[in-house]
Amino acid sequence: MMDRAQRAAYLEALGIDVWVPRAPSSTATVRPTESADVTPACAISASPGASDGHWDALRAEVLGCTRCGLHAGRTQGVFGVGNPRAEWMVIGEAPGAEEDRRGEPFVGRAGQLLDAMLRAIGLSRAENVYIANVLKSRPPNNRDPRPEEVAACLPYLRRQIDLVRPRVLLAVGRIAAQNLLGTDESLTRLRGRVHRFGELNTPLVVTYHPAYLLRNPADKRKAWEDLKFARSVFRQLTAGVPEDGHRS
Ligand code: SF4
Repeated sequence: MMDRAQRAAYLEALGIDVWVPRAPSSTATVRPTESADVTPACAISASPGASDGHWDALRAEVLGCTRCGLHAGRTQGVFGVGNPRAEWMVIGEAPGAEEDRRGEPFVGRAGQLLDAMLRAIGLSRAENVYIANVLKSRPPNNRDPRPEEVAACLPYLRRQIDLVRPRVLLAVGRIAAQNLLGTDESLTRLRGRVHRFGELNTPLVVTYHPAYLLRNPADKRKAWEDLKFARSVFRQLTAGVPEDGHRS
C-alpha cells in the first residue's frame, strides 16, 4: 500500500501540487474521487487471466508478424509489458525509437512519467497493470499510424485484451483513443467519459499521452483528474456499483 508520503512524492514527480484535506466541517463533503487518500487501486486478479499457452503463441505471432509494411523497418516487435492477469490495461499508440530498440512499450522519459502517473493511483507495470500499444511495430520517424496499419495490427491488441480481461482500459493519447473507439473526436471531447470497448464492453477512460505531457506540463493537472476518474470507475466496478459514465 502506498502511504501519503510516497503518493506526495509521485505527485511531485508529475508536477502536481498535493491537495491536503482540511479538517471535516459540518457542511463540507468530499467525494471519493477527490479524496487524497490512496488505497490500493487494484489487486492482481485471482482468476486465471491470460492462458500461458495462448499468450505465448500470440507473442510469437506478433514478434514474427509481417502483416503490414512496418515489419520491414522495425528492430523488433513490441508485444507489451506487465502482468497479463492485471485488472488494468494501459493502451498507447505505437513504439518509438527507444521502445523499438528495447522491445518494451513506454520506456525513456515518457515511460518514466507514465510510471509516475500510474504509481499515483497505486499501479505498477511490475505488479498490477498491463501496458501495450495499438501498433506493435515502430512507424518510421514516429509518424502517426496509417489506417491500414491499424487495421492489420488491432486484432493483436483485441486478443491481448480478451486474454487479460481487464476491468478498466486507460487509453493514453489521441491516437490510441481514436483508434480504439473508432472515432475522430478530439481528445478534449473524449476525456471525462466512460467509453466501452469490445464485445465485453470493457470500460475505457481516456487521458493524455505522457510524451504530450512532457511538452505541455500545464496539462498534467488535467491528466491527474483523468487518473482519479479512472480510479473511481474501477472502484465503483469492484464495489459492484454501476458507474454513471461521466466525471462528477
Ligand atoms: S505493426 Fe502490427 S501488423 Fe504491422 S508488422 Fe507490426 S505486428 Fe504486424
